[in-house]
Amino acid sequence: MEKKLGYERKSCWLKYSEKETKEVHSYAEDYKDFLSRSKTERLSVENIKKLAIKNKFSESSKKTFFIENRGKNLAIVKMGAVSPLKGINIIGSHVDVPRIDLKQVPLYEKENIAHFKTHYYGGIKKYHWLSRPLAIYGVVFLKNGKKLDIAIGDDDNDPVFAINDLLPHLSRSQNSKTVNEAFEGEKLNIIVGSIPLKKTEKDAVKANALEIINRKYSIVEEDFISAELEVVPQGKARDIGFDRGLVGGYGHDDRICGYTSATAIFEAKNKKTACAILFDKEEVGSQGATGAQSKFIEDIIIEILKRAGEKPTYENIRTVMKNSDLLSSDVSCGIDPDFQEVHEQNNGAKIGYGLVITKYTGSGGKYGANDSGAEFVFKVKSIFDKAGVTWQTAELGKVDAGGGGTIAAYLANHGISVIDCGTALLGMHSPFEIASKADLFETHRGYKAFFEA
Ligand code: MN
Ligand code: MN
Repeated sequence: MEKKLGYERKSCWLKYSEKETKEVHSYAEDYKDFLSRSKTERLSVENIKKLAIKNKFSESSKKTFFIENRGKNLAIVKMGAVSPLKGINIIGSHVDVPRIDLKQVPLYEKENIAHFKTHYYGGIKKYHWLSRPLAIYGVVFLKNGKKLDIAIGDDDNDPVFAINDLLPHLSRSQNSKTVNEAFEGEKLNIIVGSIPLKKTEKDAVKANALEIINRKYSIVEEDFISAELEVVPQGKARDIGFDRGLVGGYGHDDRICGYTSATAIFEAKNKKTACAILFDKEEVGSQGATGAQSKFIEDIIIEILKRAGEKPTYENIRTVMKNSDLLSSDVSCGIDPDFQEVHEQNNGAKIGYGLVITKYTGSGGKYGANDSGAEFVFKVKSIFDKAGVTWQTAELGKVDAGGGGTIAAYLANHGISVIDCGTALLGMHSPFEIASKADLFETHRGYKAFFEA
């Protein structure tokens, strides 16, 4: 008999039975619906919380509960029969996505056009956001303390917004600049109005915009100061290609891992305690009260210990952490057919080839990386093999081509075993990121196996 000595990868699609292929497409339908309705971190938390409630999780339950933090973090916990002191299985993702935020004093008028001034959030290519329909989502606190939820652009009856781009005819000077110089942050101004208010002498278009906003939402200009308004791509997630094998949409990074970890915990028949956490602020460094560098992880473990009837002493918290395993569930980049020069074929993720395990991230010589130990890599890949998960290993791109980080290192700092593990994307951080439905499905399948380990 021939011995298998080489490491080979195979497309998920070639492995699937007809029944499985149907399951893959059907799972993607629900995911697309979630992604289309979850354009902000707050909405992602809200919609996953609703799914949790539908799956019999509640704030007060002892066995299946969730903890919410400031509307921007959610921890979903399914207690196991084994004491949490023996360790818990955690999957941590992030639901914040690169976007364009409004400034606190956003509204102004120039050349009889009213605009919102913005400050972008996270790593974007600025030109991606020009000349395309945009929507505005977020919250505003009015003077009287009332909280207002805003969603404009995705309903068919809504207007949309746009950032204008310079016409090619007059772009001679712009064309000779580098991309960084050609597109300036201060020029990402959103067009919000063009009709002047009659009998108004100064800034009549701005005055008209303010009047309409006030009539519709009771907002006055000062209320923008106590608002979080996010400009995001308008439109729904869609199938891509004649065979409908890919999903294009805004925010796969990293709502794809948030969604799959949630559906995995709902289905999991776990012996150890399972926990799925949605973090915020990953795209700007994970700082602050809702980022992965916060003590939220400790709050969760205290709650788990209490509900298991254990005292949340410092020693017990440390014991749980030292014995726990965590998947930093974040997206990887698939090998881009048009930009193969930034990838190394053997160690790059292939689209449609399954869930990606990433031993280390970082840049410039693994700088800033959580380089997971071989013991833990072995443990995780064995779990996936046993459950029939199609997985592959990859790093982000060629050595010295660039790089990036995730929440992995911040959680590993607590003494938890951590590895990066998620779905490969094309066009990461663009307004229309692309993921394979097969990889989406294998991510869900892999996360479920991890919770059940
Ligand atoms: Mn990410
Ligand atoms: Mn990202």
